[in-house]
Amino acid sequence: MSEDRILEDIEQNKDKYLDFFREIIQAESYNPPGNEKNVALIIDKYLKDSDIKSEIFPFGDNRANLIAYLNDNFDGKKLLYNGHMDVVPPGNEEEWKYPPLSATIKRKKYLYGRGTTDMKGGLAAMVIALKILKKLNIKLSGNIILNAVADEETGGEYGTKWCIDNVLHSIKPDFAIISEPTRLKPLPHVISIGERGRLVVKIITNGISTHSSWPFMGKNAIYMMSEIIHNLDQIDEYIPKIKPPLSSEEIKKLMSVAFPSLEALEKIIGEQPMLDSVIKALTQFTKSLTIIKGGIKDNVVPDKCEAVIDFRLLPGQEIDPIINSLKKLIEEDLGYTLKTKPIGDPEEIFVYIEIIQYSEPSYWNDWEKSTILKSFYGIVEKAYNRKPFYLLYPASADASHLRNKGYCPETIMFGPGSGASAHSTDEYIEIEDFINAIKVYALFAYNYLK
Ligand SMILES: [Zn+2]
Repeated sequence: MSEDRILEDIEQNKDKYLDFFREIIQAESYNPPGNEKNVALIIDKYLKDSDIKSEIFPFGDNRANLIAYLNDNFDGKKLLYNGHMDVVPPGNEEEWKYPPLSATIKRKKYLYGRGTTDMKGGLAAMVIALKILKKLNIKLSGNIILNAVADEETGGEYGTKWCIDNVLHSIKPDFAIISEPTRLKPLPHVISIGERGRLVVKIITNGISTHSSWPFMGKNAIYMMSEIIHNLDQIDEYIPKIKPPLSSEEIKKLMSVAFPSLEALEKIIGEQPMLDSVIKALTQFTKSLTIIKGGIKDNVVPDKCEAVIDFRLLPGQEIDPIINSLKKLIEEDLGYTLKTKPIGDPEEIFVYIEIIQYSEPSYWNDWEKSTILKSFYGIVEKAYNRKPFYLLYPASADASHLRNKGYCPETIMFGPGSGASAHSTDEYIEIEDFINAIKVYALFAYNYLK
């Protein structure tokens, strides 16, 4: 039986598959600047060695996307596997126990390195799944499109979005999986059916500088900014209320499948502040002041202060009401002039706001009715020997490029690795989790396309 052959192959070649995973960890693809081509070349060779058609689409300086097809059949069902090749930079490498590009294995159980969790593990597992299906020559009536993308960590404009707009638009997939790490340790894996969006806004206050011994002569830009920050919660009143796609009660119900009972879950939520904060984050619009810069010298009243606010949007929420409410606060409530450029005349007092990043929220509306999703759930449960649960993803990801505008509404995120390890120092993955993910991607493709 084909399923057994797939599982047998994974069991026999575990070490080789882990070697491939380690090779792409060792290929540096820190974004910024990107360097995803280093990873694309390795994947391309690995697939071509198995006679899988693969193409690299280079751009910029050493950057690239990659698209591969399991076979030549485009008439049947089409499954899209998407994973990003870029990783966030390591920060201070001295703080890492094992160098971020070393791909060090510890106690045969853990693999350390930048991108092990987010998300070269998921990406490698998808590539390997294709290789296995090809190698075993398993007859399928459809196709798998593998899209290894650049630029996810900086918005996806040149990665997933570029690939859809320029290459994949005519090949509409029936179902898509993004292999972002979706475990919420100590809970089991999540199958994500939606994500919040992200809006990052920079605010600059411009005052008048003067000698700090006579501050009356100037206008302190830091005080201006602190006025805005102090009153920031006021915008919650101005932004129209949005109903979250899932209420806290519904989320708890979905989570509870992984527990003996709802009461057991409630008890764990009480003990785990992380869980409580995930539930809160998934059911509301949030804002975090993340950067503040101001002042040049201890005896100068500063004329400039800069702040960055990271807003997270619920599915269905748009950015205009948020920007408008921020403008209302600054202009009407606080009485400052808003300028469209950050430069003014000398002695001019004003505030400037700018959107520096935006990714849309997205949600698969009819997920509860999908039989394909139920079959995916069953495969995850079998591979991991533990029940996963459906949930929204607290961070933003490339899914919006697939789900929104109707390209592939039936998109989920599921991948090895625990969200908490993503972007962290000493990022790691459990090797067993990675191996189980290969099983999921290979078995699901087989079941879906057989
Ligand atoms: Zn990621």
